[in-house]
Amino acid sequence: MSYKEDTLCIHAGYEPGNGEPRQIPIIQSTTFKYDTSEDMGKLFDLEASGYFYSRLQNPTCDMVAAKICALEGGSAGMLTGSGQAANFYSIFNIANCGDHIIASATIYGGTFNLFSVTMKKMGIDFTFVSADCTEEELHAAFRPNTKAVFGETIANPALTVLDIEMFARVAHEHGVPLIVDNTFATPINCRPIEWGADIVTHSTTKYIDGHGGTVGGAIVDAGKFDWMKYADKYPGLTTPDDSYHGIVYAEKFGLGGAFITKATAQLMRDFGSTQSPQSAYYINLGLESLHVRMPRHCENALAVARFLESSDMISWVNYCGLPGNKYYERAQKYLPNGSCGVVTFGVKGGRKAAEKFMKNLKLASIATHVADARTCCLHPANATHRQLNDEQLAAAGVSPDLVRFSCGLESAEDLIADIAQALEAVRE
Ligand SMILES: *Cc1c(COP(=O)(O)O)cnc(C)c1O
Repeated sequence: MSYKEDTLCIHAGYEPGNGEPRQIPIIQSTTFKYDTSEDMGKLFDLEASGYFYSRLQNPTCDMVAAKICALEGGSAGMLTGSGQAANFYSIFNIANCGDHIIASATIYGGTFNLFSVTMKKMGIDFTFVSADCTEEELHAAFRPNTKAVFGETIANPALTVLDIEMFARVAHEHGVPLIVDNTFATPINCRPIEWGADIVTHSTTKYIDGHGGTVGGAIVDAGKFDWMKYADKYPGLTTPDDSYHGIVYAEKFGLGGAFITKATAQLMRDFGSTQSPQSAYYINLGLESLHVRMPRHCENALAVARFLESSDMISWVNYCGLPGNKYYERAQKYLPNGSCGVVTFGVKGGRKAAEKFMKNLKLASIATHVADARTCCLHPANATHRQLNDEQLAAAGVSPDLVRFSCGLESAEDLIADIAQALEAVRE
């Protein structure tokens, strides 16, 4: 039986048996016991599936990964300790030193840093293209050693909307997968796999947890990309892994299982950016109300965006749910039920005015966070994006006066009143 997202938020990933706990059990154990060394040996050889050490896999984490996987419509999923780890693994699982990746320039500052500084040091080269690039421009960015294309459904904080269908089509024409970070939209508002994405990543820290309580990430594989068809490009999946007695992931685990099994068995084993069962439990609590919370975040954001648009203290407002926005049409296609709770805008008077505005907010708090129940506000040029120079800031879609306002679940009336009084304080 197939269920709607609302039902999956509550029930997917765990089905208690007779007399078993209704809530997912927190299996707070590093290790798992076996009767014989042979039993355990089979797990180490990936000949049998089961748990042996929670750095690689833990039942609680797997239940939550299965829920996110069901919501995204994927074939397999895994949790990671953070969104950063999810994005790192999603690429490092298929790209090595000497390879090349194409990424949208308007991506989260932390991801931009990971790609352009840290992964570059590992010998992986990135070309950043505009989220608004044409099909021809995207084609032109490909090289013989390109291994994937990466973008965000709704970029944080530029709020560009990715043309997922076009990006997927071009990626597939070049025989590489499209990886989409779906953090801001969540599977409630967009399921990138339905538009052709091959791998979906999340910072569960944001709306999925939704309460500002738990850092985490997730990776979901659509199970549709045929690694064997491009065997030369993806030797990690299509040639024997000596660290597991020569198994070939794409052969042994097939389309649906190869990517996540390799990421778990190799990357999690070696890098260990694992999620804890306790945190997975909290993430699951968040998931149980995701479908109820998302519409309210969007409703509040639209009300705030409309108010800002009407204010003479604001130089510009960016919210893709706002008619007239550059991405409105694209958002109607990919995000017909709403986009996210984040609105960006510029206060007249630039950087100084933005700082004064933020200082005067009473309800919205200044926090390096978005997408939780409490409204928060950030000046990215001073925080998440302060490592970027002006040119990179512009490419990332972050102007120096940009204020990122993440609408929580409070009353929209109270949020608007707070913004109004803070703007009046700037006028004085
Ligand atoms: C926050 C965020 C990340 C990084 O996630 P962490 O959980 O903070 O590591 C990645 N992508 C997007 C779109 C984000 O908003």
